[in-house]
Amino acid sequence: MVLYSQQFWDGRPPFVGALLMPVEIVVCVKQVMDPETPAYTYRIDPATRRITSATGTPAVINGFDENAVEAALRIKDKQGANVTVLSVGSQFTADVMKRPLSMGADQMVLAQDEAFGNLDSFAVAYVLAEAIKKIGKFDLILAGRQASDWDNAQVPLALAEMLGVPCVTVAQKVEPNAGKVSVQRTLPGGYEVVEAPLPAVVTVSNALGEPRYANIRGIMAASRKKPTVWSAKDLGLDPARLAPRVQVLDLAVPNKQKQVEIITGDNDADAGRKLALKLREAKLI
Ligand SMILES: Cc1cc2nc3c(=O)[nH]c(=O)nc-3n(C[C@H](O)[C@H](O)[C@H](O)COP(=O)(O)OP(=O)(O)OC[C@H]3O[C@@H](n4cnc5c(N)ncnc54)[C@H](O)[C@@H]3O)c2cc1C
Repeated sequence: MVLYSQQFWDGRPPFVGALLMPVEIVVCVKQVMDPETPAYTYRIDPATRRITSATGTPAVINGFDENAVEAALRIKDKQGANVTVLSVGSQFTADVMKRPLSMGADQMVLAQDEAFGNLDSFAVAYVLAEAIKKIGKFDLILAGRQASDWDNAQVPLALAEMLGVPCVTVAQKVEPNAGKVSVQRTLPGGYEVVEAPLPAVVTVSNALGEPRYANIRGIMAASRKKPTVWSAKDLGLDPARLAPRVQVLDLAVPNKQKQVEIITGDNDADAGRKLALKLREAKLI
């Protein structure tokens, strides 16, 4: 059981006897295609198996990641916290990425490099782990329960493994205290409470509740903050570990077909009778 990872311990006493101490929180946030956009507006390039938006619809922050930011800010409101938002990608939309800062996060780190354009979940976790080591101090890492683009829900688990810390998934309430984190995990029709030693990774679900709106003061404050940007070189990454271990062999939009037959009759009752006969012929009733 990892009580406090010596490798990343910054010299502070590990919460012994402490009550509601301020915590160092890193929130992992992913920029994704807007899931509200109709599927027909997306195109798949068969050669590269990449998806592009035909309408140029702007990206958004993954919904569950906004829940994770909210969880961090609730901890900050209650006991004080330093909240760092961290994202891995090749291209970021500045206005989108600033949203967690305008909600109240303290700073943002973008691991940004052309080499991060087509990573698999394992490689994303590797980049996140190295960036978190470079950030240096962390008690709690929060992430979304899954990303709405590929829905893999793998990154936080791999990240926890790489950092040698426990991972608790699908949280609806997160309460760090005295070197431990108590987590309410959403279950079908209820919840369970589990505890893990800090530092730990916790993934957050939408059952936590609505993320707060950014107010004008927050938006102004965010506009003055500049993200720290780290390349693959800045992070000292091993290029071999960025190579995908998972290959996408095929990617397709489901082929939906509609066949409509209008049943008419002398009147409604006659049309109903004919419909019933058709359905019986088709062995549907
Ligand atoms: C055909 C195909 C093409 C792809 N093309 C691209 C591409 O062009 N660009 C691209 O970025 N990905 C691309 N991907 C996705 C990529 O392979 C990884 O699957 C993805 O980056 C990892 O996210 P996930 O869906 O596994 O996240 P999950 O494991 O579902 O994410 C869970 C949580 O982990 C955290 N997290 C995940 N990813 C990041 C991140 N990048 N930064 C910070 N936190 C994160 C978030 O908190 C998120 O809520 C592609 C996937 C496929 C199948």
